[in-house]
Amino acid sequence: TRQDFSSNDMFLLQGIASVAAIALHSAMLIRDVSVRDTFVSVASHELRTPLTSILGYADLLLRRNPPDATKKQWIKNIFDNSQRISAMVDDLLNVSRIHSGRLNIKLENVRLSDVFEETVDLIKESTKKHELAVNIEPELPDALADRDKLSQVIGNLLSNAVKYSPNGGQIMLSVHYDLQQQRIVVGVTDEGIGIDRADQDSLFTTFKRIQRPETQGIRGSGLGLYIAKEWIEAMGGEIWLESELNKGSTFFIAIPAQKSGKSG
Ligand code: ADP
Repeated sequence: TRQDFSSNDMFLLQGIASVAAIALHSAMLIRDVSVRDTFVSVASHELRTPLTSILGYADLLLRRNPPDATKKQWIKNIFDNSQRISAMVDDLLNVSRIHSGRLNIKLENVRLSDVFEETVDLIKESTKKHELAVNIEPELPDALADRDKLSQVIGNLLSNAVKYSPNGGQIMLSVHYDLQQQRIVVGVTDEGIGIDRADQDSLFTTFKRIQRPETQGIRGSGLGLYIAKEWIEAMGGEIWLESELNKGSTFFIAIPAQKSGKSG
């Protein structure tokens, strides 16, 4: 009870509370600095590697005159590495926007079949090893979501499914309406390398990439799932996964359905 504390006790407790507050504040500053250091070092490395390739091939093109087929391959290398830099810069800008609270989510009525069509077509073009299956419930209601960001998240999950199943296999996009929670659940399933239970929770943090012999040589920034979680949650949705090591993974997102209007 209040009476158990004398004014001396109160004075002492207030002193301790102030010191604890200062310690907490310092700890937060240190954490910010170390997050920023990781950010700068990973980002510089991820940008430096493709840039070195671009400089190398551009230099070769300037100094040599190879047959057309070789020239084409060098130009393709320059193009692929430029795309890698562009994707990394986009990811970094998105993370920076999220950190400063500028998520800029624009909720609108989204006809999901359009979003799926675009993203699935792009993924189909990117791989010959995988069979893409689509299972979309008919009469699906529209979603209330940010169209561009949702499309990027689904594209990212599909592209991860391709990247992390290097031996090919089936990739399934399944979509159903959860009537009880009035939300649309999208699942992306692959038959790839899978994810150990112990690693599953940390995947949605910045720069988290699982280091295994199987992931050697697979490129990425480790930012995609972090951005996906921030965006999906800002839309009032949820993201999670189910996976078994060496068997495959399913990443799910659930997004609120528009209250009225079914567009199929
Ligand atoms: P990255 O650019 O590294 O692919 P993400 O944030 O999209 O970044 O994914 C983080 C990590 O999660 C990946 O580096 C990979 O280790 C793991 N991961 C993501 N998707 C899959 C998947 N479908 N199967 C296995 N591992 C995955």
